[in-house]
Amino acid sequence: MRPSRYNGPRQRVLPQVAALPFMERSPLRLDAAGERLRLLHVHAHPDDESSKGAASTAKYVAEGVEVMVATCTGGERGSILNPAMDRPDVLANISEIRRAEMDRARAILGIEQVWLGFVDSGLPEGDPLPPLPDGCFAVTDLDVAVGRLVDVIREFRPHVMTTYDEKGGYPHPDHVRCHEISVAAFDAAADPNAYPGRGAPWQTGKLYYHLTFHRQRFVALNHAMIEAGLESPYAERLANWKPDPEHERRVTTRVECADYFAVRDRALLAHATQVDPEGSWFSVPLEIHQRAWPTEDYQLARSTVPTEVPEHDLFAGIAVAAADAGAAADEGRVAV
Ligand SMILES: [Zn+2]
Repeated sequence: MRPSRYNGPRQRVLPQVAALPFMERSPLRLDAAGERLRLLHVHAHPDDESSKGAASTAKYVAEGVEVMVATCTGGERGSILNPAMDRPDVLANISEIRRAEMDRARAILGIEQVWLGFVDSGLPEGDPLPPLPDGCFAVTDLDVAVGRLVDVIREFRPHVMTTYDEKGGYPHPDHVRCHEISVAAFDAAADPNAYPGRGAPWQTGKLYYHLTFHRQRFVALNHAMIEAGLESPYAERLANWKPDPEHERRVTTRVECADYFAVRDRALLAHATQVDPEGSWFSVPLEIHQRAWPTEDYQLARSTVPTEVPEHDLFAGIAVAAADAGAAADEGRVAV
């Protein structure tokens, strides 16, 4: 049997690992070699893991998948978006508070998480835009940033990675940078000539972009609110949002996860400085979210495994039923 990698260098590279609740679960599916499935989300700030893909995360954790979130920055320059938390004592301790919020979200989602250790670039505002702050993530040397993510990939050995699209999903410099380092690290982690001496090369099977915030979904939510006789918080947003069929065509993979929307909401609320419980997100009843758009959506950007789109599972082409993986191992066809 392969020695557990938890005995090895994880403590060196991933010092922030908390409890491992997925280890207590019996996995429904494994990879063909009989190993537990592993999913790595790369996010720019603490809270992004709870607003993008969090219900898919909860679903996969419930199925016994190991989910790791790599958080690029500490979110130090994020605004306080919850009026109830907009206080001088919170602002003075924002780094510590956001770490504590992330701890709570991590426990709610049942995931592992590692900080890549970069400093939030902030969202530049004004005309002309001000220069990016010295030393922030968006101006960090690309080789250094990619290298830190390569370390995580070679240690965690994900079957699947997710990140944002090339525009960052929205135009925050840290989100664009997150995309850049994720795509580069996907390749570099597998290249024996890249970052030598820093772990065995690992080829991740698939890379996805989060695409859930597309117009079609908001149209469906808006329609469901009106149909239910409720005031839609999306009317104004939609009025200024032209149809973008090209963007919508990018969706290759829709993961049904409505049963886990409540977990997603709890994780999001754990980021109390970043989410207004009275805001538009929570003005739409859970039941309407579940009925109007029961999936989280992704674009399959890269795949080194055979799969066909459209898909309904990030592990399509990788996962096999646990019983089948066990049978394969028993017959000695694969080494575990
Ligand atoms: Zn963010």
